[in-house]
Amino acid sequence: GTLLDTALATAWLRAAAAAVEAHREELTALDTAIGDGDHGANLSRGFTAVTTALGAAPGRPGGAPGSSPGTVLKAAGTTLLSTVGGASGPLYGSTLRAIGAALPGPAADTGQVADALAAGLAAVQALGGAVPGDKTIVDAYAPAVDAFRAAAGRGLPAACRAAAEAAERGAADTAPLQARKGRASYLGPRSVGHRDPGATSTALLLRALADCAAV
Ligand code: ADP
Ligand code: MG
Ligand code: MG
Repeated sequence: GTLLDTALATAWLRAAAAAVEAHREELTALDTAIGDGDHGANLSRGFTAVTTALGAAPGRPGGAPGSSPGTVLKAAGTTLLSTVGGASGPLYGSTLRAIGAALPGPAADTGQVADALAAGLAAVQALGGAVPGDKTIVDAYAPAVDAFRAAAGRGLPAACRAAAEAAERGAADTAPLQARKGRASYLGPRSVGHRDPGATSTALLLRALADCAAV
């Protein structure tokens, strides 16, 4: 679609949940290498609760009367905050709540989505204090926001695709980094040589958005 409306926000959350399930063992393995091995389980629990809440919501695929993409994304963020105990729950929960808060209308254009994604990045950085290079979610998310904005003139599907590609590159590029935030930082130099689990899941979430925006 050319606009982020309630239907696209809902489709994104469902696709994100499916991607988390499909990559659950990969996320677990990455977090076993440099963390406590629960990243796949944490996101699975959170996004399962998100899809359950979506299924229970009244109304049609387009959403209940008066719903907006922002309402849907804020509710999903609140669900992640309340169901995921690990670091990623508050981080992704706050991010989705900030993205949703920046989308008050029934349908956002590409420039508004760019601003909303940037608000989500600001939220994760305000909460976690990470900057690019710390081997976190920010290493996938920050280049994705830049790439989205650079491609915004080509429309929403192209901008989402550019963001997903930048996030995937950013996640891959975390491998040689030494972690400076989160559990992996406790390992010091032993965190080098493994991709960051959270950067990897951020790339999955943005790829899910690109897949949904493409149709
Ligand atoms: P926990 O570390 O509590 O077990 P998860 O395993 O679910 O939580 O999430 C770990 C991921 O969280 C890391 O791979 C990293 O990407 C991300 N993360 C941890 N701390 C921060 C932070 N301060 N800022 C941004 N991302 C962070
Ligand atoms: Mg963990
Ligand atoms: Mg944990």
